[in-house]
Amino acid sequence: MEITEVRQESREVQTGTKCDYCGKEVKGVYPKTWHHFDSHHSDWGNDSRESYEYFDVCSPRCFIEIARKQMNDGVGFNKPEERSTTQISDFNEQFLFELLKLLP
Ligand SMILES: [Zn+2]
Repeated sequence: MEITEVRQESREVQTGTKCDYCGKEVKGVYPKTWHHFDSHHSDWGNDSRESYEYFDVCSPRCFIEIARKQMNDGVGFNKPEERSTTQISDFNEQFLFELLKLLP
């Protein structure tokens, strides 16, 4: 026979989302107007490394600000000879660089 006991287990559940740029918070389901994306950098030089960061943003404006910050923090703009790649939200860095130049 099964031996049972009543247990109260606690686990972490998501109850809302916070914008990683402006800090705006929403409770409950993920808003359709928000965007979840990752920033990925891989460097296959002497110092082989790979990193992912994940972000949630509440607006295109917040996306742009994070993308610019990621680029400025050295995630992007690697020299071609360094054979490294950066992707932010599936844009490759050169495409995103051109895109950001179009924006005020
Ligand atoms: Zn925001």
